[in-house]
Amino acid sequence: MDTPSPVTRLTDDERQFRATVREFAGTHVAPLVAEMDQRSEYCPKLVARLFTTGLMGIEVPRSYGGLGHGLFHVVLAIEELARVDPAVAVLVDVQNALVAGALLRWGSADQRRRHLPRLAGGVVGAYALSEREAGSDAFAMTTTARRDGDHFVLSGRKAWTTSAEQAELFLVFADMADSAGGTPRFGAFLVDRDTPGLTVGDNVDKMGIRASSTCELVLDGVRVGGHDLVGRPGDGAMLAVESLNIGKLGIAGQLVGLAQGALDLALRYARERRQFGRRIVDFQGVSFPLARVAADLEAARVLLYNTVRAVEHPETSPGERMRTTAMAKLLASDVAERAASCAVETLGGVGFTVAGQAEKLYRDAKVGRIYEGTSNLQLRTIAATFAPQVPGGEQPVDPAAPAPNGSRSETEASAPWPISSAQP
Ligand SMILES: Cc1cc2nc3c(=O)[nH]c(=O)nc-3n(C[C@H](O)[C@H](O)[C@H](O)COP(=O)(O)OP(=O)(O)OC[C@H]3O[C@@H](n4cnc5c(N)ncnc54)[C@H](O)[C@@H]3O)c2cc1C
Repeated sequence: MDTPSPVTRLTDDERQFRATVREFAGTHVAPLVAEMDQRSEYCPKLVARLFTTGLMGIEVPRSYGGLGHGLFHVVLAIEELARVDPAVAVLVDVQNALVAGALLRWGSADQRRRHLPRLAGGVVGAYALSEREAGSDAFAMTTTARRDGDHFVLSGRKAWTTSAEQAELFLVFADMADSAGGTPRFGAFLVDRDTPGLTVGDNVDKMGIRASSTCELVLDGVRVGGHDLVGRPGDGAMLAVESLNIGKLGIAGQLVGLAQGALDLALRYARERRQFGRRIVDFQGVSFPLARVAADLEAARVLLYNTVRAVEHPETSPGERMRTTAMAKLLASDVAERAASCAVETLGGVGFTVAGQAEKLYRDAKVGRIYEGTSNLQLRTIAATFAPQVPGGEQPVDPAAPAPNGSRSETEASAPWPISSAQP
């Protein structure tokens, strides 16, 4: 009988890939972290390097210029980059997990052929779902897509679009109510930055992940071709929910990496710093909180890796996939915040200074409980699986069922699974 392997035991290929990304992060990212944070922008040379090393097209097939790996590699790369800089990790996350990931899974052959080589080769992608008045309730969006012959005309405003400053390709979600007829009615559209009517607003000044850009998009009669609609009219809600399920795993990877980076930093300091004639790591008051973080971090990583393997497994049901994805993101965001806080305290006064590096991780960690679904929304998804829908039987929430108010929230739509990994 085969002995099952622990989920954290990586294959040779995964181990080698992780080592390559670790080396890249140490050599090319680490020296730039403080300056990029201060300037609130990525170093353009680093972004170019992310492309040349293939990290912006990890799942993109080799025939389209990508690395041709799977989702597990995406999460490993994000984790390793986040150990050094969570802001760089989120650029790689949105590119791979949300934009290229959506095209790979739901794009037509023509869309994949046109856009995947661009995404792997130098074009930054961004994902525009949220609006000022439609955050957790994303499908309360007011951005519309009106059909005009063979085209669609997009109008509205999107908020909080990560990487928008650099992006040349946007995946924009809009209400197609007048175009699709009936429900469901949302659509996802590929929009090039230079399309007339599209304006990218200023970069929002943020508490953390400051090198990452976050901008508003204004769509004023933006005309796109019918071939720019991803999936069928009305697939937008399913596509948003399913792509965010993948995106949440990327964010969980970012937060696990951040927590590891914070723990490494705290341990390095605690082993060197001496007070009362001893290393501070020898004081239980210092080592026990770090031991707690180490245990929680291990639990979050195991859940994350298991979830990534589960979402790609054909026997995982939609309900199970949604629940475990929500749990993985929830736990990772908790441990990231605690690890960063613990690192600040372990470094004492130095932890409170910019030079100490822990304060940046503390600032960066906070957004983990907000974007790609707040922690409350993850709890809502998990809690929804407690109430069986039919007497006597435990059933996953029917993800496709409309909410009572007729809208469909982030947690309430789904697609058939597994989604075939699209090959050229
Ligand atoms: C830095 C950053 C980058 C982002 N990048 C992107 C991006 O690239 N693309 C994109 O589309 N969006 C992006 N977002 C938007 C992000 O996904 C939303 O901010 C998030 O979904 C929360 O929405 P909101 O800010 O409107 O908060 P709200 O929905 O207004 O929530 C406010 C509070 O109310 C709570 N709440 C809301 N509804 C419920 C409920 N039903 N039950 C219990 N509590 C509830 C929330 O948990 C939260 O604590 C980004 C946000 C940030 C901050």
